[in-house]
Amino acid sequence: MLKKLLTLFLILSFLTNSFGQSKSEISQAEYVFRHVNVLPISSETTLKNQIVGIQNGKITFISNDNFPEKLKTKAQIIQGKDKYLMPGMADMHCHFPEKKEIKNYFLMNLLAGVTHLRSMRGELKHLGYRNPSDYPKPYLQLSTKGLTKDLTLTEKSADSLVKISKEQGFDLVKVLSIKDSASFFNLMTASKKYQLPVAGHYLNNVRGRYFLKSGYETIEHLGGLVEFQKLGDSTFNAMADLAKRNNIYHCPTLDWYQIAYFLLPEETMKKRAGMEYVADSVKMKWAKTLQEDTQKMGEADVKKYHDYYENLQKKHFEVLKKINDKGINIIAGVDASEIYSVPGFAIIEEMKLYRNAGLSNYDILKTATINPAKYAKNEASFGTLEKGKTADLILLEGNPLENIEAISKVNGVFVNQKFYLKEEVLKMMQ
Ligand SMILES: [Zn+2]
Repeated sequence: MLKKLLTLFLILSFLTNSFGQSKSEISQAEYVFRHVNVLPISSETTLKNQIVGIQNGKITFISNDNFPEKLKTKAQIIQGKDKYLMPGMADMHCHFPEKKEIKNYFLMNLLAGVTHLRSMRGELKHLGYRNPSDYPKPYLQLSTKGLTKDLTLTEKSADSLVKISKEQGFDLVKVLSIKDSASFFNLMTASKKYQLPVAGHYLNNVRGRYFLKSGYETIEHLGGLVEFQKLGDSTFNAMADLAKRNNIYHCPTLDWYQIAYFLLPEETMKKRAGMEYVADSVKMKWAKTLQEDTQKMGEADVKKYHDYYENLQKKHFEVLKKINDKGINIIAGVDASEIYSVPGFAIIEEMKLYRNAGLSNYDILKTATINPAKYAKNEASFGTLEKGKTADLILLEGNPLENIEAISKVNGVFVNQKFYLKEEVLKMMQ
């Protein structure tokens, strides 16, 4: 009896404490999600029936929601029953459209749950896209214009190029190709000196081992890996392990390939994620471009392209699964194609390809959340849903840990310190 009373007392005092502590946080919160299922992403779990509070754009509490239905708070209450709250996603390889389309482009990304963009084809005017605007937009990481092999980088010119890029406010130097090893060495030396990352294509004309140890931060399009694979398992494993030891991230951009190489029938393209938000005029333009491209190339060449990539896609899937199994960091990026790449929504098509490659739903979600945050050395603030982190969140109508396609069912997005329902984002579009 005494033992039972003691247990009851302990439970009661625990409840009053946790309620008491949370009560003051609740009264101060600006937003409170009620009865929501939380995907923290820091581990592979779904926390059922949670209450989540947000103040000044930061998550101030998360706990089981056993609170009375009426709360003493001025907060905006968001009912989350049967919904799922998770960190916003990042597209780590995007290209911005023309300036006049940028507002809709940003809003479309939010509509798709993409709250972070890493632009990989920089221009000076992009720096201004970070300025405050009268509409919400994703957080931006901006690359310089892509360097190419036409440019000789001496010690001096590499130094000034990196120094100026840093001063201008770019977050990384993008490399498409490089003149020679000496230019690469000079570039990486300057990169270390000014602490400005270098990322981009795998560079065939730099010795593989040296390249992977150079400090290069991300490799796009699974570059290098298929070639290593051709040289046999031991070469592949040695090079992949070296990439892992040097903390290189891979950004596969598989969706780009499947569109560019005519892998998808037109009927399938017309049903891609987000097509319902694309203007009829744009849809017609895409259909026309596809028809013209097909005619220009001729059916035989289109088939050649198609078959070539069908075969290469199998290899891409193989290496993607292998590097994922090795624990190499993968970051999701789509490298949007000219046609049928719906801004933001293409990330969902990219994720479906990771699923086809054999990655688990949890690993797929990490490629767009915690991995990009780690790459940006920003995991203290982004990438997972935890107390103290930035409220960079999406509210979904299904659980993507159970079915990855639920990622396309965005109900609302929390970004730039405010919550926006899908309908509100749609209304802001022009
Ligand atoms: Zn690209």
